[in-house]
Amino acid sequence: MFDRKAANRQRETAAQRLSIAKVIAEYGGDVDYRDGLPMRAGDRTAKVMSLIPKCRTGALGGCTWQCRDCDSNQLVLKSCGDRHCPTCSATSRYRWHEQLLSWAIGCDYLHQVVTVPHELNDLIAANHKRLIGDV
Ligand SMILES: [Zn+2]
Repeated sequence: MFDRKAANRQRETAAQRLSIAKVIAEYGGDVDYRDGLPMRAGDRTAKVMSLIPKCRTGALGGCTWQCRDCDSNQLVLKSCGDRHCPTCSATSRYRWHEQLLSWAIGCDYLHQVVTVPHELNDLIAANHKRLIGDV
């Protein structure tokens, strides 16, 4: 059974939740801070930072879906589709996580990722099996 009060509480919580889109909308997207120093954002960065706050807000448009069975309508707001957008990448991130879980073996283990200096890239590539194994 649909609990309207619970849905409204959830909606309010989502509206109050801090997001990247809200931070960009609040503080502007035309300045990029690197190493603590403000820099002008490049064209691509500026475009992404202008799109993310608009994603699924109606600013990019929308359409109405109509149910064939009951004729009810649902407004669907357009998303930005940028791979950097946390909203747009949520589905692919969820699928990636589900796929990762399907590969997990049925015991406790630790997955480690190690980075090595770039100077070792050629050495490792030439001796991959000996240094990394069959990965
Ligand atoms: Zn988006």
